[in-house]
Amino acid sequence: MAEQSEYTKPLPTPDAETAPFWRGTKEHQLLIQKCGDCGAYRFYPRLYCPKCASEAVQWSRVSGRATVYSYTVIHRAPSPGFKPDLPYVLAIVDLDEGVRMMTNIVGCKPEEVRIGLNVSVVFNDVTSEITLPKFQPC
Ligand SMILES: [Zn+2]
Repeated sequence: MAEQSEYTKPLPTPDAETAPFWRGTKEHQLLIQKCGDCGAYRFYPRLYCPKCASEAVQWSRVSGRATVYSYTVIHRAPSPGFKPDLPYVLAIVDLDEGVRMMTNIVGCKPEEVRIGLNVSVVFNDVTSEITLPKFQPC
């Protein structure tokens, strides 16, 4: 579709380790790796558990609930594709399952974002292949 080919911001390139995450977001599910031995969640996706070095892994659908750990309001576009979004919020959120994720806070004004704000995941279908997880106030 012409509309989708006009998406001008950087896109992720799923690889063997991250493909399950991106398949999940495409189905509007947030899937996070969970260690098959010690049960620790981890994000970003990787081969070994950072807690116990196990390679055993499950992809676990998580709640999508999180709190804002830190954020900044972007007023200058890093590339032309971001200009229509200005100002927008780049944030790090703590998922209830204990992992941190970089994302955007959407669905509110930038000045309404606070550290500790309760947010939940929303899915932004940016192309026919890629869906980005973003977060909005609960
Ligand atoms: Zn482990």
